[in-house]
This record gives sequence, structure tokens and C-alpha cells, in this order.
Amino acid sequence: MTPQPVCVLGSTGSIGVSTLDVLARHPKEYSVFALTARERVAELAQQCRRFKPRFAVVLDTDKAAQLRKELVAEGLTTEVLSGVEGLCQVASAPEVAVVMAAIVGAAGLKPTLAAVRAGKKVLLANKESLVMAGPLFMAALAESDASLLPIDSEHNAIFQCLPYPCHNLADAGVERILLTGSGGPFRTADPQSLHRVTPDEACNHPNWSMGRKISVDSATMMNKGLEFIEACYLFHAQPSDIQVVVHPQSIVHSMVQYRDGSLLAQMGNPDMRTPIAHALAFPRRIDSGVSALDLIRAGRLDFEAPDESRFPCLRLAREAIEQGGSAPTVLNAANEVAVEAFLQGALPFTGIAVLIEKVMDSTDRLELVDLEAVELADREARARAQEVLSELNGVHENDAGGNSYHG
Ligand code: NAD
Ligand code: MG
Repeated sequence: MTPQPVCVLGSTGSIGVSTLDVLARHPKEYSVFALTARERVAELAQQCRRFKPRFAVVLDTDKAAQLRKELVAEGLTTEVLSGVEGLCQVASAPEVAVVMAAIVGAAGLKPTLAAVRAGKKVLLANKESLVMAGPLFMAALAESDASLLPIDSEHNAIFQCLPYPCHNLADAGVERILLTGSGGPFRTADPQSLHRVTPDEACNHPNWSMGRKISVDSATMMNKGLEFIEACYLFHAQPSDIQVVVHPQSIVHSMVQYRDGSLLAQMGNPDMRTPIAHALAFPRRIDSGVSALDLIRAGRLDFEAPDESRFPCLRLAREAIEQGGSAPTVLNAANEVAVEAFLQGALPFTGIAVLIEKVMDSTDRLELVDLEAVELADREARARAQEVLSELNGVHENDAGGNSYHG
């Protein structure tokens, strides 16, 4: 059998590296067609030496030139492209069978959409692209021969607990989807202490090792909010079909409740190589390198209701999907600006939800008729978020109670 060519968008990230780990276990089944990164050229060069892809893409043109020089000097034949055009080109190249969409944030939208429109098997890790452009994304999927397989561990779990294909939850006898979340590092922290949380504390997730943006999202539980929206689109669900359940051990990755009283769960050690291997080989099962779950060692599994007063981002996300139109786009954009500001020390942890809510309350809703409408909503929300950020910082400078907004 000839190996299936795979394009890994965001190959230097946490999901990208896990994907390459799984691919390396199955060289007869999969080959690496393209690898991409924003700027970490040294890591990308290392991956090129090991996997010898046909293409490598670096977002930045100068850094792409640097990588090109390096690879040529070593006699590698990998062709180096740059920019969003380069990303879209490799994601939709005729040779490619599978695209792993693992760029973080809104930047993943165009290449992921390009892969969908080109009819690829798309493994979706980049939840932000679905959240910001859900209706457009799902319409593109319906119009093409593409298949979309969820990599987010919860959605992959739900997918595994549903019949395949599943076009309608009610017809399949589904009563509701139970979306689990660990509650992040601050599940039991004193709410009064949260304004002092540092980026490193927020990124120190108890169960998962992930990129910094999603780690902060997990700490605010915006990650669960984005996943709530993601689940509505992926599974054609209404917000009322989905219940968030906090499960601190991250062993049950989500569940589906059926009309007959059955509750199906997918379990496993918290390691993204399981959903990656599942989606890659679906409907076959392949080795992922993840050890079997030892339930006796795990000992106990706890479940509790989320505390929305501690985690307002969850409420904001639910309100956004209920409002519809561009509300999820605005939510996502404001969150990206807020998280970046927090990571840069320009916003306290508790300011993330405050900023998002202010942006949600002061932007217009648009119909997401096309990509231009999505980009407009995204741009306007980011501009508004920057204004709110300045307002928040200005207010604080005049506040005699504290001299450092992030201290
Ligand atoms: P990461 O920060 O570790 O990696 C992000 C990758 O995207 C890197 O390769 C980076 O070079 C690339 N990238 C960043 N900005 C870019 C831009 N503007 N243009 C082009 N490339 C860019 O992130 P991650 O943790 O691997 O997460 C990737 C995606 O998967 C996110 O959407 C995240 O929500 C989702 N996800 C991650 C996990 C996890 O365990 N890490 C779990 C579920 C879902
Ligand atoms: Mg997840």
C-alpha cells in the first residue's frame, strides 16, 4: 500500500509534535507531505531533517528564506514556502490526503477552510476556526467531499460515543451530550486570589501539557466555552443539548446520554496521541504510543457541576452561541486579545472575562454570510478589545488601591 500523504499545519506546536510522534509509528501507512510553523525555524528544520517533507511553510518571509538557505546547504529537497498563501497551498495540494489543522487561533481559519474546500480528510484541533466561522465552515463541509474528524479530546470522545454517521442527535436517540472538563489549575483556588495569578501558574495544567494559549483558556474555562460552541457546530446540537460536567481527573473525555438510559463514555489516559491516532486511522484502530488506562490505579472518578461565578467565561460562551451570528466570532477575537495581553503582563487573569464581556456588550452582530463578514467581525472585535484594554489599564492607573495591574 502507498503511504497517505499528510499535511501537518502547526507542526512545531504541542498537537503538531504529538501528530508527528503518531505518524512516525506508521511509516508504511503515512508519509509527511508538508510541515508548517509560524517562526520556530530551528524546530522546523529539525523536523524537516527527520521527516523529509515535500514542503515546509514558515509564516514570515524572512524566516522562510533563512530556513530555505539552511535546508539547501544540507542538501535537503524540501521546498520552503511562506505566508498564508503557502499554508493554503499545502493544505489543499492535490497530493494531500489528510490535513492536521493544528495552528492555534484565528490564524488557522484560512488554511483549514482551504483543506475543507479541497475535499481533504481534515483532523480538526484548531477549535478557534470553527468557533469564529461555524456556519461558514459547516456549509463548506456540506458542499465538499471533505470529512471532518475532531481532535479535541472531548469532541473526539463524543464522536466515538455516537453512531457514525450521525446527522441528527434526536434520530440517534441521544438525549444530551455531557462535555467534561478538568476545571483547570484554579478549580478550587480562592476566587479572591485569582487576580494575582501569573502566566506560568495559569499554564501549569494539572493533567494536560499544551500550548500556552489553550492552557490559559483551560484556566479561565474559556476552553470549555469554546468547546461548547465547537460541539454545537460539529454535532448539530442546540445549546440545551449540552451539559458541562467538571471531572478533575481527565480520564472520562466526554459522554453521550441516550434515551434508553445508557450513558456512553470514552476513557483513556490524558494524552492527545489517542484522539490523533483515532481520527487519523478512522474507522481503523492503530497504535498511538499511549499506555492503557489502569482504572484500579486511577482509583476514583469525580464529577461536579461547574461554578459559573468563578468561571464567567463559560457563561459568556453559552450566551454567544445562543445569540448566534457573529457573537462567537467576537467572543473568540476578544478572548485571543485578552489572553495575549495576560501572557504579556498587560491584563490580570480576572481581567480576561471582564474584557471579553465588555467587547461582547459593545459590538454589533453581523450575519456570517461569507469569509469577508467573518474577517470584518473578527477585525472589529479585536480593535474594540484593544480599546477596552487601554480603558481597563487607564482606570487602574488612577486606582490608588493597586499600582500594578498584574502584580
Ligand atoms: P501551540 O501553541 O503549541 O502550537 C501552535 C502551532 O501553530 C505552532 O506550530 C505555531 O508555529 C503555529 N502558529 C501559531 N500562530 C500561527 C500563525 N499566525 N500562522 C501560522 N502558524 C501559526 O498550540 P497547541 O497547544 O498545539 O494547539 C493547537 C490547536 O489545537 C489550538 O487551536 C488548540 O486549541 C487545539 N487543541 C490543543 C490541544 C493540546 O493538547 N495542545 C488539545 C485540544 C485542542
Ligand atoms: Mg479539549
